[in-house]
Amino acid sequence: MKIAVIGTGYVGLVSGTCFAEWGNHVVYVDNNAEKIARLNQGELPIYEPGLDELVTRNRNAGRLSFTCNLAAAVEDAEVVFIAVGTPARVGHGDADLSFVYMAAREIAPLLAENAVVVVKSTVPVGTGDAVEKIIASVRSRGSFSVASNPEFLREGVAIHDFLNPDRVVIGVEDENAHAVMVALYSDPLAEARTPIVLTQRRTSELIKYAANAFLATKITFINELADLCEQVGTNVGELALGVGLDKRIGSSFLNARPGYGGSCFPKDTLALLRTAQDHGIALRIVEETVTANEARKRKMALKVLDAVGGDVDGKTIAVLGLTFKPDTDDMRDAPSVPLIETLQRFGATVRGHDPVGMENAARILDDVQLFDDPYECARDADAVVIVTEWESIRRIDLARLRQVMRAPALIDLRNAFEPAAAEAAGFRITAIGRPIVR
Ligand code: NAD
Repeated sequence: MKIAVIGTGYVGLVSGTCFAEWGNHVVYVDNNAEKIARLNQGELPIYEPGLDELVTRNRNAGRLSFTCNLAAAVEDAEVVFIAVGTPARVGHGDADLSFVYMAAREIAPLLAENAVVVVKSTVPVGTGDAVEKIIASVRSRGSFSVASNPEFLREGVAIHDFLNPDRVVIGVEDENAHAVMVALYSDPLAEARTPIVLTQRRTSELIKYAANAFLATKITFINELADLCEQVGTNVGELALGVGLDKRIGSSFLNARPGYGGSCFPKDTLALLRTAQDHGIALRIVEETVTANEARKRKMALKVLDAVGGDVDGKTIAVLGLTFKPDTDDMRDAPSVPLIETLQRFGATVRGHDPVGMENAARILDDVQLFDDPYECARDADAVVIVTEWESIRRIDLARLRQVMRAPALIDLRNAFEPAAAEAAGFRITAIGRPIVR
């Protein structure tokens, strides 16, 4: 099939490249000319493991190209994916749909006869209806379809997730879209017998938010239990194992952490709440999840304070791992940011290290000296805080780390280290959901 993908972010780049891997011809468009220029030079604007090779292979095979020329990309595309950002509107919480609507307006006059416009961005229920109206208002003739196909990939393992999904969700309102979308997915996923959930467009839109809200709730549930574990002297890792092996519950998303972040859960839970409010519905569990998660992110700074004797004023704190999770350069809503800002407000000097995310971190963080080398980052520090458990950070030589530091506090917010190993290296370790040593 001939496919155009609008937006070369994490979702657009991964999904389009995977469609090419399945044998389709994909043309990318982005209104950020710099991104297109970099892509045309063979450089990726994002970090995602394995994506470089996949893009190069499909480009060399003539199945993938990048352009700023929207008309050239859209005019003979049978399917046009909209994969632009839908961030939370500042101060409102609802999804900012301006990028989606702008893309719809721009492609409207260019669409081929019977083209299927697919909204891949995460959008509130009813957005597909609005996109359809926008396109219809611009086009004087010709038929087209609008479908919903939300994406469930995780950054860091995005290619694996896209090529091996648990399910594909497709929302359509007409036969044309139904046939085209089934043709696109059914063959590549036939061998794995991946379920394809074919539903109405509005249901498909809501499925994405419901899934993310459920996962955010599961994370928050185990995070709160981790706090209880600390007080009653039990280990949240063993608790999660015992609970998660129950198939009705499942063991994923039961790792206690500093609080969820990233470019999806925070904004999607807020947008779902806003949709519910607009319809007079109270989603109390999701409301509590959002509140508890925000409080938790701030509480992590208090954990650091406790570990260094109650006060960080004048102290130097080294933060290892800045991105919202390992294997991505994405800093959007990363828990490291409120943690660092709170520590700075309490008077600490904060230094940081991340294997991949420092370029993005430098744009967001003020007054944080960044180091390529974790040991240099920790030199003369009063405490080290592990915020993201990159493999290279897990492999740090704890004895060497301790040697360069001024004081022995290690606050391990990802339970990346065995407490016994940290103690043997001379650290006083504070972790998540493990008994507090008083
Ligand atoms: P992103 O910000 O990384 O990328 C969006 C891209 O769209 C940018 O390159 C931007 O320049 C481009 N763009 C915006 N308006 C445009 C226009 N009119 N024409 C052409 N290009 C335009 O975003 P992302 O992380 O890829 O997320 C995209 C959508 O997918 C969001 O709705 C998000 O919620 C959803 N999603 C993201 C993930 C994830 O892990 N990142 C997972 C599932 C779903």
